Amino acid sequence: MSKKPGKRKRSQVGRTAKRPDRGAGHGDEGPFREKILRGRSNEAAVPDLPSQRELEGDVRRGRVVQLRGREATVAPDGGGPEAVCMLRKSTRMPHPGANAVVVGDRVGFLAEGDPPFVLTEVEERRTTLQRTRQGREAQVIAANVDLCVIVASAAEPSFKPRLVDRFLISARVGGVEPALVVNKADLADAADLQAMLAPYGRLGVPALSVSAETGAGMEALRELLRGKTSVFSGQSGVGKSTLLNRLDPELALRTGEVYGRQGKGRHTTTASTLVAFPFGGAVIDTPGIRSFQLAEPTLEALDAFFPEIASAAAECRFADCRHAGDAGCAVPEALERGDVNEDRLDSYLTLRREIVQGG
Ligand code: GDP
Ligand code: ZN
Repeated sequence: MSKKPGKRKRSQVGRTAKRPDRGAGHGDEGPFREKILRGRSNEAAVPDLPSQRELEGDVRRGRVVQLRGREATVAPDGGGPEAVCMLRKSTRMPHPGANAVVVGDRVGFLAEGDPPFVLTEVEERRTTLQRTRQGREAQVIAANVDLCVIVASAAEPSFKPRLVDRFLISARVGGVEPALVVNKADLADAADLQAMLAPYGRLGVPALSVSAETGAGMEALRELLRGKTSVFSGQSGVGKSTLLNRLDPELALRTGEVYGRQGKGRHTTTASTLVAFPFGGAVIDTPGIRSFQLAEPTLEALDAFFPEIASAAAECRFADCRHAGDAGCAVPEALERGDVNEDRLDSYLTLRREIVQGG
């Protein structure tokens, strides 16, 4: 509390002149008001309220693009150089602990003095990508991801619906919208590509074919990615790296730069990085994430992707049925009637077995 009698007296004089009914006890009102506006009330000490500096507009906003220990590299909103920032005890964060700040987090920071700057706040996350291992605390790999692009290839390696289904279900369990991109369209004919994509379109999953080699379909892919934060995943060799480089020729280079800056050599490439696309949107990328499955599939998510089989299974009269062809089971009967496709049933049963047996 400031003790500046001179100042106080001046404001008192002004007030009493207009409102003579005010007693001397209210004389503090003027200066007190002023303190609130400047964020200097006692309440500013409560951590949940904005600090004086935030009220004064010194705090900048941005997004974590890379992490090393508790040191976060932040790309400020509206552009400008990236800022290295640190978590402090005073940082407001919704998830204190090992995953307090991750790539993709929206943050506030005070760019004052020499870096590392202070993170004032980690904002609540809309979504999280997690790596779960049995018996361990989940590791959050990235935050605020909108789209999981599951990349497959039409050939070399051959299209594997089972694997695609597995990735789709994982994305759903992980709470991230999935999309399917079948690459290497140059190695297949149009009818085959159509057959690969059609079942997913019917399920409401965005599905398109592209060729990183010829550039076919790339504009539609950009449209899918624009304005969102995505991750790419899928089997090795399907062309994820080639696609990313084609989407942004500087991506490989820039990613390399960041790794280089860390000066730690090869093993730092396991750290995830957020890279902005030149056409809007961003990708959270690491070689590790590219083959990563978002979450363990669940029966619930499996049924969501195989509604026609799930509804046949719901008709089954056996309580504890595997729906794998036993006499009297409703699922083979649906197959017989043509309500269920054989390949899809195969995929469903394989995944179901995996889920029930725990992988
Ligand atoms: P990743 O493991 O999924 O990242 O796959 P890569 O990007 O390393 O690509 C694997 C191989 O597929 C490389 O030899 C690429 O040149 C090739 N490839 C990538 N995209 C295409 C494509 O659209 N058509 C053809 N024919 N080959 C491709
Ligand atoms: Zn059954």
